[in-house]
Amino acid sequence: MSSAPQRALPSLDRLLQALGPSPLPRPVIVRRVREQVAAWRASGAVPSFDTMVASLRADLARLARGRLQPVINGTGILAHTNLGRSPLSASATRALLDAAHGYSNLEFDLESGQRGQRGAYLESCLAQLCEAEAATVVNNCAAALVLILHHFARETRREVVISRGELIQIGGGFRVPEILESAGAVLREVGTTNRTHVEDYHRAIGPRTALILRVHPSNFVMEGFVESPSTTALAGVARDHGIPLVEDLGSGALIDLAKVEETLPREPQAQEALRAGAALVCFSGDKLLGGPQAGIIAGQSVHVGALKRDPLFRALRGDKLVFAALQATVESYLHAAARRDVGFPADLPVLDMMRADLRELRRRAGRIAEALLGLPVEVDPGDGEARIGGGVCPRARLVSPTLRLKPREGTIDDLAARLRLGQPPVIAVVAEDRCQLHLRTILPDQDAALIAALRAAFAGPSTEPGGSTGESETGEAVAGSKSAPGSVPLPPP
Ligand SMILES: *Cc1c(COP(=O)(O)O)cnc(C)c1O
Repeated sequence: MSSAPQRALPSLDRLLQALGPSPLPRPVIVRRVREQVAAWRASGAVPSFDTMVASLRADLARLARGRLQPVINGTGILAHTNLGRSPLSASATRALLDAAHGYSNLEFDLESGQRGQRGAYLESCLAQLCEAEAATVVNNCAAALVLILHHFARETRREVVISRGELIQIGGGFRVPEILESAGAVLREVGTTNRTHVEDYHRAIGPRTALILRVHPSNFVMEGFVESPSTTALAGVARDHGIPLVEDLGSGALIDLAKVEETLPREPQAQEALRAGAALVCFSGDKLLGGPQAGIIAGQSVHVGALKRDPLFRALRGDKLVFAALQATVESYLHAAARRDVGFPADLPVLDMMRADLRELRRRAGRIAEALLGLPVEVDPGDGEARIGGGVCPRARLVSPTLRLKPREGTIDDLAARLRLGQPPVIAVVAEDRCQLHLRTILPDQDAALIAALRAAFAGPSTEPGGSTGESETGEAVAGSKSAPGSVPLPPP
């Protein structure tokens, strides 16, 4: 029959058994193994059993790493969007767990025993903090903006007047002109990139104008020959024409950041924008506020009420877990407001990181460095620069005690990769010929896990994970051996 020296493919069961434990659900593993075996069969080049097992293990490890999991943030970027922005406070985390675990009075009035208003208490707390008539919560700040634009820009009034200097892009996929378009609004640009005057707005407003939108430039800064009207002046223009002024504050802040850390610049505060006459403001829950992903809308109750009655609101409304975490976060601010001495919450990680004591950060760096003695790496503690991230205060830099690692063998990039692929994954910065870890964004209770991850990373390039039955029968190179990304053992189940 067949004359080619084709090796027979092993049974699925035999392969599954050889693969050993994995955190992945069995059907996911079975599917990957089937696909891979089919590919080997189709290619006609059937590798040895050991090669197959090694290659499958590497593939499954790659897949398992894509699962959402905690990481250690050594980047020095506090509200790192790719790493989930602001960590929650202990009380917010507890509130979230409690709400998740059982039932809650999410939309139930305990007084009357009837259906209640979703998030009414949270909304009243937010309104109080923002010094607004009313407030509400949607999924994120982008959703808040879409809801506002969709609601106000309709029928014959579709134009949204905005300065050319504010047609910005924030992070991946948030471009102000595109958001406007998707919400059915028509962009009416005024002024120039660097200068926009009150008269520019006046001239642009007509019977088709729905609102004036002001967007905080967030992640970029213009300098030099720059001018834009104050919120007060813009609110005056809006009032003259009988249209609302809406301000997208981006991160927004409920407190003066300079009180937390004196070197930080002022971020626009929701209260100030509303006091200056904005009809509505929106801002993110998970940037400077230090809460969960959410978009907060605050301002005049006629407008907030109308937004809540808009059919789109239903599609964008917040989830109970978010409400629970946000409620605890917002209560932290309200508790703090009662304590005149400080005025800002003392339990929000993102604020803690901003005002962290440098001596304490250096002490921690020293202790970690000590724990690494004897490993094949040079560790020199130094100072780097931390940033806020999340498009907030792009120029602000905080002195950031840093562990600077230089491995005796292998490259810096290789070390950074091994740290990323470890358990827990550690995200470092490669700069100045060092693999750097910023203590400011490493939570104090993560030091032990960090030390363990660093030790594991220096335990040598991982050879094949346990369960390997020996050398490849054919002596061919085992896929994913040495320090290739695929060679990291599966995390424990
Ligand atoms: C970050 C930002 C947004 C987007 O906020 P999300 O909560 O991530 O949707 C919108 N507008 C501005 C000005 C921002 O800085």
